[in-house]
Amino acid sequence: MDEYFEKRKRLVERLKKEIGLSEKVARAILEVPRHLFVPPEVRSEAYNDYPLLIGHGQTISAPHMVAIICELLDLEEGDKVLEVGAGSGYHAAVVSRIVGADGVVISVERIPELADRARKTLKALGYTNVKVVVGDGSIGYEPEAPYDKIYVTASAPRIPAKLLMQLKNGGRMVIPVGDFIQHLHVVDRDEYGQIKTRNWGAVRFVPLVGEEGFKD
Ligand code: SAM
Repeated sequence: MDEYFEKRKRLVERLKKEIGLSEKVARAILEVPRHLFVPPEVRSEAYNDYPLLIGHGQTISAPHMVAIICELLDLEEGDKVLEVGAGSGYHAAVVSRIVGADGVVISVERIPELADRARKTLKALGYTNVKVVVGDGSIGYEPEAPYDKIYVTASAPRIPAKLLMQLKNGGRMVIPVGDFIQHLHVVDRDEYGQIKTRNWGAVRFVPLVGEEGFKD
């Protein structure tokens, strides 16, 4: 147990009340030490429910947003998951706990310095089923496709066609879409490849920058 365990436990209790966490998501958030994914100067704030700056103008998402995306994805043990926007590596670590040793998380990050730090943090903490790659995740990551689940942690101008193509039949994607006004979309690809999208509600994310994202 680390020095922040009690704070982490209180955060999980609060998220349980506010968004009704499932047992598996609650357990993963309780297990992953968010304070070790943020810069030392904001470590004491790691268990407050808001985003924190992680450098290069980017943020680690608020814990409730990480939890909501995990719940909406309906993650299962053994899932192969694509994350677009590794940032600190924290969200990937939480997902990796839920999909377990038979599952895998491939996380794409466009800023090499962030990818490098995320990779080092994940390795130091023993998250061996997460692979961080540098690249433009707005076009997905073809070498490991297809995926059971895909989630994007930056807001896209529209749902990128290449991400849809890398989703398995029966798979699900969660992605924020919009510029000033953003909404979180839950996209299902059924067993025949038909796409159904529903709007979860308003959110606030940094922009997805790339070929199928916003221009730099
Ligand atoms: N999941 C992260 C975490 O747990 O810390 C939070 C990610 S932050 C809200 C969004 C990230 O998306 C940033 O690190 C940003 O550099 C990255 N990003 C933006 N556009 C991208 C793209 N086209 N491909 C990959 N990463 C991108």
